[in-house]
Amino acid sequence: GGATSTNLDTSIDLINNRWTGRPYSERYYEILEKRRTLPVWKYKEKFLQELKGTQCLVLVGETGSGKTTQIPQFVLEAVAENVYPELTRSKRKMMIACTQPRRVAAMSVSRRVAEEMDVVIGEEVGYSIRFEECTSGKTMLKYLTDGMLLREAMADPLFERYNVIILDEAHERTLATDLLFGILKEVLKVRADLKLVVMSATLEAKKFRDYFNGAPLIEVPGRLYPVEIMYTQQPERDYVEAAIRTVAQILTCEAPGDVLVFLTGGEEIEDACLKINREINKINYQCEIGPVKVMPLYSTLPSDMQQKVFDQIPERKIVVSTNIAETSLTIDGVVYVVDPGFSKQKVYNPRAHVESLLVSPISKASARQRSGRAGRTQPGKCFRLYTQKSFHNDLEQETYPEILRSNLANTVLTMKKLGVEDLSHYDFMDPPAPETMMDALEVLYFLGALDEDGNLTMVGEIMSEFPLDPQMSKMLIVSPQYNCSNEILSISAMLSVPTPFIRPRDEVQEADEAKAEFAHIDGDHLTLLNVYHAYKQHNEDPSWCYDNYLSHKALKAADNVRQQLMRIMARLNLKLCSTDLSSPDYYINIRKALLAGYFRQVAHLQRSGQYLTRKEKQVVHLHPSNSLDHKPEFVIYNEYVLTSRSFIRTVTQISGEWLVEYNI
Ligand code: ADP
Ligand code: MG
Repeated sequence: GGATSTNLDTSIDLINNRWTGRPYSERYYEILEKRRTLPVWKYKEKFLQELKGTQCLVLVGETGSGKTTQIPQFVLEAVAENVYPELTRSKRKMMIACTQPRRVAAMSVSRRVAEEMDVVIGEEVGYSIRFEECTSGKTMLKYLTDGMLLREAMADPLFERYNVIILDEAHERTLATDLLFGILKEVLKVRADLKLVVMSATLEAKKFRDYFNGAPLIEVPGRLYPVEIMYTQQPERDYVEAAIRTVAQILTCEAPGDVLVFLTGGEEIEDACLKINREINKINYQCEIGPVKVMPLYSTLPSDMQQKVFDQIPERKIVVSTNIAETSLTIDGVVYVVDPGFSKQKVYNPRAHVESLLVSPISKASARQRSGRAGRTQPGKCFRLYTQKSFHNDLEQETYPEILRSNLANTVLTMKKLGVEDLSHYDFMDPPAPETMMDALEVLYFLGALDEDGNLTMVGEIMSEFPLDPQMSKMLIVSPQYNCSNEILSISAMLSVPTPFIRPRDEVQEADEAKAEFAHIDGDHLTLLNVYHAYKQHNEDPSWCYDNYLSHKALKAADNVRQQLMRIMARLNLKLCSTDLSSPDYYINIRKALLAGYFRQVAHLQRSGQYLTRKEKQVVHLHPSNSLDHKPEFVIYNEYVLTSRSFIRTVTQISGEWLVEYNI
């Protein structure tokens, strides 16, 4: 600041909020003080200055340095001050996008930023994630998932509504972010009035810089305190159990300080929280360790519960989180990190045509990020629940980019829709394996989305309008022909949200009995339909849900998704219809429509009692959660799950005769 300040110094110490005109609240000043201590604040001028001379800039900064929350605000102020006249030359309304790979981060961070700017979320600052839009005509800064920005590009290929696009968490190398790299690289050439900022937490940023033709790179040094790394002497057999034991040890032996534990998924985390609480009770019998609060953090947790981990509380905090706390969200006050060395990762085997989420070892880069979380406010300790030898010999340097681990059917459809014709010569940062690409083209060809020359067909055009996997879009599109689009809409919506069935560990039997009331003997898709119908018949009553071991939240979300999909159907003139419930064809039509989308996901019963997937000939088993009353000869499945065995989950019986027309 001061008298010599340039017009770049846009520090905001006015009495009135420049965006709303209202006087600032006290809380605003309180947070501002904290914000000013974040490492990126020291680089504010440099950053804004660098951005003056370039269209594209790469910013690297340690996790927690303030990239996600502060940089978009800096940019917003600077654009409003007309620091970059080239951006405001066109009469375009001011709008800045900041992408996040994770839905939770987009929501949580935008809320935080709205609070920092002293505005109401959804007004000047908003977010947009699949099936949930929280923005308005006033919105100037929008946090959105990278997948949403990609969808926007389909309707708005030059990103005309934005002056600045910030691709955040670029180091995560999600599929959508990788595609956006390629698309934006092209768009920048034709839009001189657009700037791109790429933000990353790791030094892979050099790679981004090269990709973007030597864009300037700013490195914000983190303020990391030393973190002492401890390894186990022997490999652990059960990492969850080891993590719980380690937490107990920290509580009894180590100085005060919050604890962050990395586990792999919601169910595992809830279970671990219960057990940690039990341990705490046990310890409290023997010695007084003071008040402790155990908090879960994962993506399907209700958002008010997610927000709780940020609250400053008098108790000692133990946050048990998925990978989301690795770089996307920063929880202050963490002194101890427990890292079992695993996360759930997408794995794709193109030969088997199977994409699955697998609990897999993390990379060295991830392990370093995780330990770094312990040293943000004071020296910390990280307990790695694997041996030092294993760290050096077994862990990969970096996590593979998602594009190398995914089924690309949806990606190819998106790219075709965006007008990319020659996929084999597309400028990918890391090109996917040719066989994965071929496989995607083949799926789309069989679904009728591409013609023999690989061009998008009419059906393909329509499919790309749905924010869904190609199979599900296809099923919706053909459902009017089977006279069951209403039902297929409900099933699609139910498949798009977390499972509605709640199964508390100590009430498994009651929960299973409740579920059995909805079971349809022809399969799980129909069971889901029954649940949805019952929910509507009971007027969406939360206590009815509770009594029936159903998640009201999941059902409400499904209902919301259904309405959105229904609007898309209406817009595309796809008829909403149902077969008469009393007709013997009611369920048959639905099952035929399911098959029309998922004909590549059929399994055939073997004499051994196992199933074999029809195309890839993989041995699979029906997941025990299925509602079938027998083993049908043919089933379609929604999901392939690999745990100790290969399972197919959410399965429905189909007739072998129907398969004739799907000659795959
Ligand atoms: P980076 O993107 O560089 O990792 P962030 O901008 O996410 O850093 O975080 C900067 C600081 O903002 C963190 O130290 C954290 O304390 C604070 N912060 C971020 N989100 C929230 C939130 N939802 N509630 C409270 N504080 C938050
Ligand atoms: Mg961030």
